[in-house]
Amino acid sequence: MYDYDLLVVGSANADLVIGVERRPGAGETVLGSDLAVHPGGKGANQAVAAARLGARTALLARVGDDAHGRLLLDSQREAGVDTVGVLVGGAPTGVALITVDPSGDNSIVVSPGANGRLAPEDVSAAGCLFQGSRVVSAQLEIPLETVAAVVRNLAPDSRFVLNPSPPRPLPSEVLAACDPLIVNEHEAKVILGSAAVGDSPEDWARILLAKGPRSVVVTLGAEGALVASAEGVSRVPSVKVSAVDTTGAGDAFTAALAFRLGAGASLAEAAEYAARVGAVTVTKEGAQASFPTAAEVAQQ
Ligand code: ADP
Repeated sequence: MYDYDLLVVGSANADLVIGVERRPGAGETVLGSDLAVHPGGKGANQAVAAARLGARTALLARVGDDAHGRLLLDSQREAGVDTVGVLVGGAPTGVALITVDPSGDNSIVVSPGANGRLAPEDVSAAGCLFQGSRVVSAQLEIPLETVAAVVRNLAPDSRFVLNPSPPRPLPSEVLAACDPLIVNEHEAKVILGSAAVGDSPEDWARILLAKGPRSVVVTLGAEGALVASAEGVSRVPSVKVSAVDTTGAGDAFTAALAFRLGAGASLAEAAEYAARVGAVTVTKEGAQASFPTAAEVAQQ
C-alpha cells in the first residue's frame, strides 16, 4: 500500500511580477505596476496541480527561512500537498523576477537560491517518501546530481517521470529511468543536441526513445501531444479551447499524466487525460491559480 500517488522532487520559487509599459534596456529605469507575488517553480506547480486533481501528493524541495518560503509552504498545504519533505534553510527561497509588457512579452531573471542547495544527501535522507510513493516526478530546476540521486533512490516498483525543463543534456542513467520523458519541442531539440532531429514530432520522439527512456511524450501546445514507447508512436487528440494564458500548462500536464499512470492508466489514456487538464489550465490566468480540480476536468 502506497502512502502517496505522487512524490514531486523539484523547485519552489516565488514569482515576483511587475507589469511595465516597456521592458528596461541596459542602464535604464522604468516605472511599473504594483508588485504581484505568486507561488511558483516547476516542482511546486506540479505538486499543487496533482493535489488539486485528487492525488495524494508529497513535495521534496528546499525553500529559505523567509517570507517567500512561508508563502510556498502555505500554498502547498492549502492545495493538500504533504510538505513533510520540504526542507527549510541554507539559502534564500528561489525567486523569479518577471517584467511583463502589454503585449505579454516578458523578461525573467531567476535566482535558484535554496533550489540549488537541494542536495543528493537530501534525497537519500528522504527514503520513507520514496518507499511510499507509486510515482516520482522531477524537473531540472534543481541540480542534475540531485535528479540522478532521485533515480538511484526509487523504490523497486515505482515509476519515474521527468520533464527536463530547463533542458540540458542528460546522463544515460537518468534517461534510462524515465517512463516517460516528457518534452516540448524546445526541450526535445536541446536534449537531442547535434543528433539528427528529423522533421516531425514523431521523428523527435523516435530518436529520443532510442536514447534510452522507456517511453517518451512530446507536448505540442494547442496541437495536443504524442506518446511513444516500444509499442509505437501515437497522437493524443488536441482539445479545442480559447487560450488566455499558457503559463503552467506543461506542469499541469506532467502532474496529471503522472497521477493517472500511477492509477493504472495506459500511457495513451494518461496523456489524453493530461491534455484535457492542460487545456483547462490555459483557459485561466496564472500558474497555480489556473490548475483545475477533477470535477472541472470532467465538465470540460
Ligand atoms: P509547455 O508549457 O511545457 O511548453 P505545452 O505548451 O506543450 O507545454 O502544453 C502542455 C499541454 O497542455 C499540451 O500538450 C496540451 O495538451 C495542453 N495545451 C497547451 N496549450 C494549449 C492550447 N492552446 N489549447 C489546448 N491545449 C493546450
